[in-house]
Amino acid sequence: MQPTAPGGKLIPVLPNRNRKGPTKFDSPHIAIWRSLSELSSEAYNQPVGDHGLIACLHCDLLQRLPDLAPGASARCPRCNKELWRRREDSLNRTLALTLAAAVLYVVANSVPMLGLTIVGRDASTTVIGGAKHLWDNDQQIVAILVLFTAVIAPALQIGLMLAIVLAGRRERPPRWVGALLRHHPTTRIWSMIEVMMVGVLVALVKIADYATVIPGVALFVLWVLVFLLAAMQAAFDSREVWEKIQWADEAQRPAAGDGMAKEPA
Ligand SMILES: [Zn+2]
Repeated sequence: MQPTAPGGKLIPVLPNRNRKGPTKFDSPHIAIWRSLSELSSEAYNQPVGDHGLIACLHCDLLQRLPDLAPGASARCPRCNKELWRRREDSLNRTLALTLAAAVLYVVANSVPMLGLTIVGRDASTTVIGGAKHLWDNDQQIVAILVLFTAVIAPALQIGLMLAIVLAGRRERPPRWVGALLRHHPTTRIWSMIEVMMVGVLVALVKIADYATVIPGVALFVLWVLVFLLAAMQAAFDSREVWEKIQWADEAQRPAAGDGMAKEPA
């Protein structure tokens, strides 16, 4: 029987094989959730069912990904761009690199990065200490940028990756891994330790004539961390984790899809 809206109008039933219409057996909180879904104007498109189908990001050609051996890559037949490379032992390698990056990150922010000796006076600072000096010298915007791009964003990048990889190794990863996967590229974009390091090198060269510069342990650790973060990203195969959490998207979609049954105004 076709369901009706509160006004008595008929709601068109969509050909959704997963859709479970509201029933009198719904518990109160499910009924409220269904009502909210119907008020929402959001709707999910239905996937084609063939998860090997993808569109090329460069030329939009729709194509089917083959089963790849570890280390092999799939290329677009029209524009020859690499669409996907199956990383070898991606989760384990990424986990090892992420743990190493986490240790180096803690060291880099705990020990001095630079020491200066000017006319007999010594001074040394950490990365966070450098941001604080900038703040104290009325450079608040630069201080916030340094703190965010060299301290907070790398911490988020490492932390999210660690959570994704640890959860992704499970047989059935939890649903929140999808949210982390969507937000992780943002932390990668804002993590700019290498930019800060280039800035520090330029400053060192300029100041070398006036003061004795003593490079701290953190300076070397940060350079290693730059390459370690790049290796961590290169080893990670997000498609492998997306395939594992497919069940969560499918479980969520029918509930949101019920919003499509809203009567057009
Ligand atoms: Zn293409």
